[in-house]
This record gives sequence, C-alpha cells and structure tokens, in this order.
Amino acid sequence: MRSHMCGELTAAHAGERVRLCGWVARRRDHGEHLAFVDLRDHTGIVQCVVDGSVDVRSEWVISVEGTVRARPEGTVNAELGTGEIEVVECTVGVLGQAEPPPFPVDDRSETDEAVRLRYRYVDLRRPRMQRNLRLRARAVAAMRAAMVRQGFCEVETPLLWTPTPEGAREFAVPSRLHHGSFYVLPQSPQIAKQLLMVGGTDRYFQVARCLRDEDLRADRQFEFTQLDIEMSFVTQEDVQSAITEAVTDATEAAVGEAPGEAERITWYDAMDRFGSDKPDLRIEMELIDLSEAFAGTEVRAFAAPCVKALRVVDGASLGRNRLDGLVDRAKELGAKGLAWFKVTSTGPPAVDSPLDKFLGDAERAALVTGTGATVGDLVLVVSDVWRMACQVLGALRLEIGRVPITEGGRRFVWVTDFPLFDGTDDEGRPIAAHHPFTMPHPDDMDLLTSDPAAVRSQAYDLVLNGWELGSGSIRIHREDIQRQVFSALGITDEEAESRFGFLLGAFHYGAPPHGGFAVGIDRLVALLAGEGNIREVIAFPKTQSGTDPMTGAPKEVAATVLRDLGLTVKPKSG
Ligand code: ASP
Repeated sequence: MRSHMCGELTAAHAGERVRLCGWVARRRDHGEHLAFVDLRDHTGIVQCVVDGSVDVRSEWVISVEGTVRARPEGTVNAELGTGEIEVVECTVGVLGQAEPPPFPVDDRSETDEAVRLRYRYVDLRRPRMQRNLRLRARAVAAMRAAMVRQGFCEVETPLLWTPTPEGAREFAVPSRLHHGSFYVLPQSPQIAKQLLMVGGTDRYFQVARCLRDEDLRADRQFEFTQLDIEMSFVTQEDVQSAITEAVTDATEAAVGEAPGEAERITWYDAMDRFGSDKPDLRIEMELIDLSEAFAGTEVRAFAAPCVKALRVVDGASLGRNRLDGLVDRAKELGAKGLAWFKVTSTGPPAVDSPLDKFLGDAERAALVTGTGATVGDLVLVVSDVWRMACQVLGALRLEIGRVPITEGGRRFVWVTDFPLFDGTDDEGRPIAAHHPFTMPHPDDMDLLTSDPAAVRSQAYDLVLNGWELGSGSIRIHREDIQRQVFSALGITDEEAESRFGFLLGAFHYGAPPHGGFAVGIDRLVALLAGEGNIREVIAFPKTQSGTDPMTGAPKEVAATVLRDLGLTVKPKSG
C-alpha cells in the first residue's frame, strides 16, 4: 500500500511520486480550497497539501499518493524531521474514520495515566511510546544475539508450574481437572533452569515472563520479563561476564553507545561506602567512618558501635526547615537521630551545631578534617549499629545527591559477596537473602552453624545507577551443603521434600556445579529509555492497584467457569 514511511522523506526525494499511509495528526484549513494534513506513522510526521474539500479529521486512517517537493522559501520547519519538504498534488483515500481521540496524540500533553491506559492503543501511537517499544525490541534482540553468540541455548519453561523459591507472594491457577489443586505461576524459571543443568543443557537462556503478586511500584509489575540464564561448570565471574556482554550489547543497541566497563564492589563495601546494596555511583558522596574518633566519646548521642558521617559539599546553606526535614527522615528510617554540623573553619576546626558545645577538640577535628570538609560544607552524622548507620546515611545521600535519570552516564556495578541470610523471621530463624539454593562463600562454610548471620554467599547483583537490575548466584549442587542451609533456614526435611523434592531428587542423578543470573529487562530498558517508571516501556501494563483500565481485568468470571473449576466465591465483605 505504501512506497515510503512518513518520517523518511527528505529533500532528496523531491520530485518523486510517493504513496504513504498513516493517521491524521493534524488538519489546518488554509483558505477555502486548501488544507494541510500532517500525516503520522511511527517514523514521523509529514505535511501533505490537500484539496480543501477532502474530508479527513484527527486520527482518521488514510492513504496519500502525492509528489514530494521542497517547501517554499520561508516555510521550512526546522523542528520537524521532514520539515524541508511537503507532499503535494495529493490523492487521499480514507481507510478508516475515527472518533476524536480521548487526548492529544503527541508528547507535549500530560494526560492522566488511568486515561492513557484505558485507551492504550491511542497512547501507543505517541512518538514517546513508539520510541520506547522499539528501543526495548532492539535491546532484547541484542541480548538474544549475545547469548546465542556465547553458546547459550534458548529453552522455554512452563508457566503452569509449582511454587518457586524467590519468596514473594504467588499467583495460583485453579485446576479444572483436579478440583482443589492449583498450578502456581513461576516467580522465575529458577527451578526449571536448574533442572535443565541436570539435564545437560550446559548454557540455557530465556526471555522469560515472571509473575509475582507483590505491591506494585514504579519499578514493579505483577508480570515482568527477565533475561534468565543458567550455566554449568562455571565460576561466578563466568556468569557475570556472560551477562555483562549481553547488557553491554543491549545498551549499545538501545542508545547507540556502549557503557563503560562495569565496576565491582563487595556487598560489605557497598553498604559501608554508599549505604546501599544498590549504590548509585553517579553520586560522588561517600560515607565516612568516624567510629574510632568517637570510640570513647562523652557525647551520649554518639555512644554507639558505629559513627558514620556524610559530607555534603556547600550544604551549610541548607535552612533550618530542610535540616529538620532530614532529621525527621533519618528517624523515619529507623535512626535514633541525625546530628548536623555546618563547617565554619578548618584551621582550627570549628562547626556551627547544637551539639558543638559537647564536642572534644579531637572529635571536632574528626568531623572537619576527618571528612575532608571545607568551610560552607555540612557534615551529617548517624550513630548506631553499623548496618543502620549505613542504611540511613545511604538513603540521605540519595535524597540529597539525587541525579535525574537521564544524567550522569550509565554506571553499571556488580555487587558481590552478599550475605547468605538477611535478617530473621518471626520465629528468629534466618531468612534466605537470595534463595535457599544459593551456595555459601567457600571461606564461610564453618560459620553456617556457629554464626549464620556472618556467612557470605556466592550471590551477586547487577546494579545500574541505583536500580537493582537483577540477581544471581552459584547454586548448591551438593546434598550435604543443601541440608545444612535448609536446616539453618528452619526448612524441615519434610517441607524441603514437599516444596522442592523434585529438584533435590534430580540432584541424586548427577548434578553439575552450576550458577546463573536474571536481568530485569523492564528496568534495564526503562533506564536506557530515560524513563523513571517501567510502565512506560511495557505495552500493556497494570495500574499501581493492579488493574487494567482497558480490559477491566481482573473481573468476575461466569458461574459456569467457577463450576468447572469447582470453586465458590464468597460474597464481598463490607
Ligand atoms: N531466579 C532468580 C531471581 O529471579 C535469579 C537467579 O538466581 O538466577 O531473582
């Protein structure tokens, strides 16, 4: 039906007869006999000069046959890719009429998201959405190609499955043939891909849909997509290198520029220096440890095992309101308080702070010289146990230093050596930080029974500009170690058997050492597209409250469906 796309026409096409198709972006009548019709397809907009009697309106679908000509002097539009030309002597065909669109189909207008999602098919016509979808497609194609090039085999795993170990709430699907029994939608292909390793697949990948019934946020949807991989006979560095290659290629394909080499940091150092296990390295501020200088302090506020400081360059100009806001925020985050010091001199060190009168000279010197502060800087201090002090200052570091999503470059970083366990459950038992198949660090095996909280794991995350892009680990393939970890987690033999018996059983039949990773594609693509919300890079996302305003899902189902499934639904309460 067409010879060219709208956006590709330039002065070089002048004189050519072309056939175009698309949507009417705008119609402007010019006198009685002439109208300008801006025709849009996903490549751009081109101006067509048509007879005033042609009846076409906003968002009608039309075909145009006409001749490209250079625009007359003075009418060139530098804002438009095709602004040097227009299409004249047009024959217009109406392919489909349209009601007036519910909102303007351009990137300039802000429309309520619920309305955008209700009419997503109109919203998707906007240049921004088309750009995002295509950027996503390029990124995914590049990742696929990178995996194939590295000898990975793409395998699909089931969606109707059984519980997987990531620890989020699961979606269940009632079985029609086995009333009272349910399939569980996989939170990831974790168990399936480990079975593929036992099955000799060696290097598996999949662009996999994962389903988790969690509260939705800017970076979370019920269903999301991962580049999921698993490899046999590898070290964690091998896994990281395979993934690095894929995300490097994806970045280059998406934005035309490869990122710098991914950095590496251990979990401990990330927490200690940046107060986060997903550090945004675009922010230069680092936490400074002053515990030693305050070890024998008389100041009650500082009597804690760990004293951490954050130097805010030029922060002394922050007003009292803003400082009070930071103190409140620190308390909200769990700190007992937040001390602040405005540096007024470096020689001798002097500060302006309600706590100044309680400080010894050495302490004041530590706050100024020890943090490298200069006059006009602000020093924030949290004293607490190490983890709390780091976390609170890490969060303030983010708030104060926040860099817009599109600025500061792309700082990929591998965070390694995560703790094996993260906190304890209601019954005081450790909780698996990654999942229960994660291999402990070889140097920490002895601590499994004596000091589980101190055990590091062979788990690692990939982080980009403060967003966790994904996680992975070397897996336990030995039954004795698996049993020790289950026992530390309080998973009994019977429970292990009922939840993961088929995986543990498979391990009896020859399990290779293996490990893997999964990259959150929605998050990666959002960051590459410069979007702060993954909904902008998903064609048909759910709203924050988990609904789809376009289809109305979730909806009630017909009584016959319930009957077939053997279900009765209780009337809504309240
Ligand atoms: N299945 C894990 C996850 O989704 C990733 C992995 O360990 O490979 O977080």
